[in-house]
Amino acid sequence: MNAPVLTDRLKALETGFFAETHKLFIDGKWIDSESGQTIDVINPATGQVIAKVQAANAADIDKAVKAARRAFESGPWPAMNGTERAKLMWRLADALEEEGDEIGLVETLNNGMPMMMARMGAVGGSANNLRYNAGWAGKINGETIVGHNLSRHTYTLKQPVGVVGAITPWNFPLPMAIAKIAPAMAAGCTVVLKPAELTPLTAIRLGKLIERVGIPPGVVNIVTGYGDPAGKALVEHPDVDRISFTGSTATGKWIVQASAGNLKRVSLELGGKSPVLIFPDADLEKAIPGAAMGIFGNAGQVCVAGSRLYVHKDVFDKVVDGVTGMAKALRVGPGIEAETQMGPLISQRQLDRVTSYVQSGREQGAEVVVGGERSGNQGYFMQPTVLAETNRDMRVVQEEIFGPVVCAMPINDEDIEQIARTANDTTYGLAAYIWTRDMSVAHKLARKLQAGTVSVNGSAGIDAAVPFGGYKQSGWGRENGHEGAEHFYETKTVSVAL
Ligand code: ADP
Repeated sequence: MNAPVLTDRLKALETGFFAETHKLFIDGKWIDSESGQTIDVINPATGQVIAKVQAANAADIDKAVKAARRAFESGPWPAMNGTERAKLMWRLADALEEEGDEIGLVETLNNGMPMMMARMGAVGGSANNLRYNAGWAGKINGETIVGHNLSRHTYTLKQPVGVVGAITPWNFPLPMAIAKIAPAMAAGCTVVLKPAELTPLTAIRLGKLIERVGIPPGVVNIVTGYGDPAGKALVEHPDVDRISFTGSTATGKWIVQASAGNLKRVSLELGGKSPVLIFPDADLEKAIPGAAMGIFGNAGQVCVAGSRLYVHKDVFDKVVDGVTGMAKALRVGPGIEAETQMGPLISQRQLDRVTSYVQSGREQGAEVVVGGERSGNQGYFMQPTVLAETNRDMRVVQEEIFGPVVCAMPINDEDIEQIARTANDTTYGLAAYIWTRDMSVAHKLARKLQAGTVSVNGSAGIDAAVPFGGYKQSGWGRENGHEGAEHFYETKTVSVAL
């Protein structure tokens, strides 16, 4: 986007979409919240309020769940076949692409991510996810089973699980929402989406597109609000059949307990403290930038961030120097500036949290090789940070920081088993990264690592077709791929006496 076009778009947003009185999208209509209270939405690059959205409460959530239930039980949605649902999903994907530049800009202004990442990754990735999942609509079927009792005819049906409560975080607002809505729609479920209170704006844009492309009322409802009361009411609601949650491990644990009332199904994508293992034979030309962007990308606010950097002692200094050099050279700035490589953290709270982690590292004996401080005095920018002299007993090595802070540690072992034990020495298990030319080492380690995704010689990224999720306290279940789609079905056995 060239500068004059960007200026025009920013002005149009300021006087148009951002200035609107945003409402809740329930049953295909835009309505006020019961409380009439609003949430200030802030641009993290400036700290300024850019828009206001409704703060829903339990009564609003109840309305949305009722609308989703009606849409699931009666109305046009249950009468549609897979192809008809897929057609609507493709229309939504096309509409997202048509308004992609503007929606990308909204994502950048609300979340802080660089524009290119917002346009290609967030918007483009979301459109692809819709198209990928549209492919499953009508294609997940049961089977005919010949049981022990040969005088029965037995088969299974795959049926939509029902009303899905989707609760999403602020780090990738639009793709996280789509990752839940797309497979749910494909299965024939209906959805109540509660986006993160910090980043609700692209969800509202999505609601407008859902309306425009003619997805029936109540199929997707979008209710903005805080975790408590809105998210909480959704999790506790007795008429919600499944919760699909992405967020912190602490909130995930709470959700497990709060959803027990009706034993709703729960899938959780939670935090991580993912190891990056660099061996001496690795292609360091690739491994060094890979390790750097694996922690500095999206300012480290990425659940799969490679935050524990383990480097073989023979190349330790070279790798740490390289990552440090990249940290110094990285263009930190507002996402709307074309040269920006790393945007701000999401909020003052997050900036305080990340800087206090660095402080705790210092107090526990870590060396700050580069960074460690806030960057500038406007917005919530943080310097890309490398910590050395770190060890397993430090909070910075054990806890998820969710910021651009990496802990570098040497690998002194040659033994794969021991290296795997070190990499697995965390309560999390989301991702792991291996850099080596020795494929035997790579595959042996891949088997041993407790991680939902193991990437060798470059990050797997997030792909709608590839299962994604965590071992241990990184979550329950897998999102994306066939396995992700399966979450939105129940299996029914039908057995007929012959
Ligand atoms: P963070 O602490 O980084 O904001 P959270 O896990 O709290 O991460 O937030 C992820 C999502 O979970 C957000 O949409 C938030 O509103 C929601 N949330 C927070 N607390 C609750 C809760 N008690 N019940 C349901 N949703 C919640």
